[in-house]
Amino acid sequence: MKNECYYDDYDLKENLGFDSKVVHGGLGCDPITGAVSFPIFQTATFRHRKFGVSTGYDYSRLQNPTRQELERTMAILEEGVEAFAFTSGQAANMCLFGILKPGDHVILSDDIYGGTFRICDEIFSQLGCDFTYVEMSDLDSVKAAVRPSTRMFFVETPTNPMMKVADIRKISDIAKANDALLVVDNTFLTPYFQKPMNLGADIVVHSGTKYLCGHNDVIAGIAVVKTKEMAEHFRGQMKSRGNGLGPFDSWLVLRGIKTLSLRMKRHNENAKKVAEWLRGHDKIKKVYYVGFEDHPGYDVNLSQSTGFGGMISFEVDSEQTAHNLLSNVNMILFAESLGGTESLITYPLTQTHESIPEEIRQKLGINERFIRISVGIEDPDDIIADLEQALR
Ligand SMILES: *Cc1c(COP(=O)(O)O)cnc(C)c1O
Repeated sequence: MKNECYYDDYDLKENLGFDSKVVHGGLGCDPITGAVSFPIFQTATFRHRKFGVSTGYDYSRLQNPTRQELERTMAILEEGVEAFAFTSGQAANMCLFGILKPGDHVILSDDIYGGTFRICDEIFSQLGCDFTYVEMSDLDSVKAAVRPSTRMFFVETPTNPMMKVADIRKISDIAKANDALLVVDNTFLTPYFQKPMNLGADIVVHSGTKYLCGHNDVIAGIAVVKTKEMAEHFRGQMKSRGNGLGPFDSWLVLRGIKTLSLRMKRHNENAKKVAEWLRGHDKIKKVYYVGFEDHPGYDVNLSQSTGFGGMISFEVDSEQTAHNLLSNVNMILFAESLGGTESLITYPLTQTHESIPEEIRQKLGINERFIRISVGIEDPDDIIADLEQALR
């Protein structure tokens, strides 16, 4: 079939630095009209001009130019072969685990995101897949969990919400030795700070809802792959499950990504200040922050990334202090989610990690005194002042 599409040959902009790549994306502007803001192709279907001639687009569940621009941008930023944009991080992970066959075994971080745990525990375990949750910062535990049927390793680093660091290169070696795939959920650090593909990951997934979009206004998910074969898997899953991101939401994420570098730099700076301040407060018992030099994963984190991100967890002195803090914050918003311009404070016990079994939560330390904060890009003095008055 003759392909008349202008959208298919794109310049990888390989010579640009990362901060330019986020601005210029895949094609950058519209190749036909020159529109600097990539158009929102709000269409369900595409006209074929004659028999045997196609623009390369048939139906938006399969391909849509705006979604493709986002996917190309993410493939460039994560240095993968292809990327796929889904209606949520959960949808991306549903397609990811769709790789599994009955009897396959997966090893995951023990304080994995609650929704990822639910996909494994409620959906894929029923289809005959097995899951083992281990402390990924402890390589001996990782090795001990391997079985002949181990097909995949799923890593978050730093983890949510305990901020544990896993050594991506070393886990990649274990995965390769066992002929298994390594998947990294790069939601927390984003490619601005960490590029898992270059450290041995086969697949990178994101909740695009968080830092990539960055404005708390879209739910989206991304999967980036290293091989054409894996790309065919995701294309097939998206086509069948029908969970590709819509054109307008794709455009919003693309728009968010333009400022990814600026935002991540600021989140990183603000979080450092807030973490230091929290550590000095008498009602705060423990602060979990990867940027502290005495954090057990500090060196490993810096060997594989260039920063710490904007996430901090901490334990206060009592359940009452925790409840007061959540009720009394003003500028900081008591809300789920993370990675946006606004600072958000969360209670993992009843919000993000409610699905995690009580016994695992206790072991990890997710208790009634445990709080997580996503440090936004506001004036850091205002974030600290708000925490100070709410802790009084
Ligand atoms: C939020 C989140 C997800 C799920 O993404 P949604 O966009 O909410 O579906 C997966 N992993 C991590 C680390 C997350 O923070």
